[in-house]
Amino acid sequence: MRTVVCIIGLTLFNCATRAQIATSLAPEVREYVKVDAPVVALVHARLIDGTGSAARDQQTVVIREGKILFVGRDGDPPLPRDARVLDMNGRTVIPGLIDMHGHMFYTAGNVFTKDGKLAPGGITLNEMVYSYPRLYLAAGVTAVRTTGSIEPYTDLNLKKWIDQGMIPGPKMDVTSPYLEGPGTMFPQIHELTGPDDARKTVAYWADEGVTSFKAYMNITRAQLKAAIDEAHRRNLKVTGHLCSVTSREAADLGIDNLEHGPLVVDTELVPNKIPDKCPPFADMLAAQANADVNGPVVQQIMRDLIQRHVAVTSTLSVYELDIPSHLPLRKEVLDAMLPESLISYLTLRNNAGKDPHWLMRFQKEMQWERAFYTAGGTLLAGSDPTAVGYVVGGDLAGYGFQRELELLVEAGFTPLEAIHIVTAGNAAFLGQSERMGTIAPGKQADLVVINGDPSTNISDIEKVEIVFKDGVGYDPIKLQEAVRGMVGLR
Ligand SMILES: [Zn+2]
Repeated sequence: MRTVVCIIGLTLFNCATRAQIATSLAPEVREYVKVDAPVVALVHARLIDGTGSAARDQQTVVIREGKILFVGRDGDPPLPRDARVLDMNGRTVIPGLIDMHGHMFYTAGNVFTKDGKLAPGGITLNEMVYSYPRLYLAAGVTAVRTTGSIEPYTDLNLKKWIDQGMIPGPKMDVTSPYLEGPGTMFPQIHELTGPDDARKTVAYWADEGVTSFKAYMNITRAQLKAAIDEAHRRNLKVTGHLCSVTSREAADLGIDNLEHGPLVVDTELVPNKIPDKCPPFADMLAAQANADVNGPVVQQIMRDLIQRHVAVTSTLSVYELDIPSHLPLRKEVLDAMLPESLISYLTLRNNAGKDPHWLMRFQKEMQWERAFYTAGGTLLAGSDPTAVGYVVGGDLAGYGFQRELELLVEAGFTPLEAIHIVTAGNAAFLGQSERMGTIAPGKQADLVVINGDPSTNISDIEKVEIVFKDGVGYDPIKLQEAVRGMVGLR
């Protein structure tokens, strides 16, 4: 057996040779395999290598034992004699996508009171053990950070089973359960009792094997500080979807990453904000929708985040759900949903988007992300395949991340910039640049074959033909068909 050299470091993503992987794939996984050979040569490809440089035509990529052996012009050098050659004429090869907000659960549907309010305990988050790993892989997502876990032991087992070849799915950086303060709306989430509980919770889950942490809306500054200090003591990063703590307060406490915004979540702009308290939702929405992106306050927030090296994760696809007029219904998405979840989604979608603040806030967020990136900020991207605000559901694993790419381009990024962010950019934040994120010799062969040219038309990102993970090529159609009608239940 070939020796494998890999930097284990934080053990985020395990590595193995293709030979090890291919021989260890369970029959259930093998069903989805389209290309399986020790040496594969993709020839006549259009190549987008993830570095942000222009697409190149007439390229060859040689994969050997799960890794990239060669990338260059067709015929230069001659192909290995034992290579299985695939003609990529009309196809584009890009690095595997890395979803930085890739939950393994979904908001299956809500129960409302007679006057239309969410019933206490009426919101449930169901773990999509079966469907989500398959949907991520089918969409070309070869790695995810889960960014908040509802069933952390399930996520840890999923990671183990995927790595062992028992089920098909992406490589996983498993994030902790939500580090949440008092007043959560979610019955499945633990409320921290104080800073000591925060520190102990971080220590416990780090020992159990999670490799990143997520702070949530009602956490207090003291709890957040204790959590960050404990995570950093273990060389692990903390991200947050915050509300009670503002973005700049969190930056001062040393947070590494902020989810969603900050324009769509930051509460610094909300008048009469009380420290450690999440303001009423209507006040937040109005303040964020009316924010002046070029004004002194927002610009200062942006500069502070850049100066403190706080990365921001764009999740435009989940915020778009609140603006149904902006979001086309995609057949594959509807087909993937459990009938009850589909009805719940379509019913709520029908009633959403009446308040113009939703669209205003969404457009400001786009403007903010573009400005942040241009000013030198670290912008990551994720799908958050659940829902926020009014609409429940509709942003699904994999499909949601393809939509995120389309929305980044709408926000003013070039397709090459958007692809760079979701590959090399996300890999760098995870400390995985040596192994994933670009197409270069020595990297893991995580590649997506697209029937089209996403460098000129980003929507071509939806036309996935083969997804290589560690050199094994999976069939996206078979993966999608296997989970038809399941999202919401399993
Ligand atoms: Zn989330």
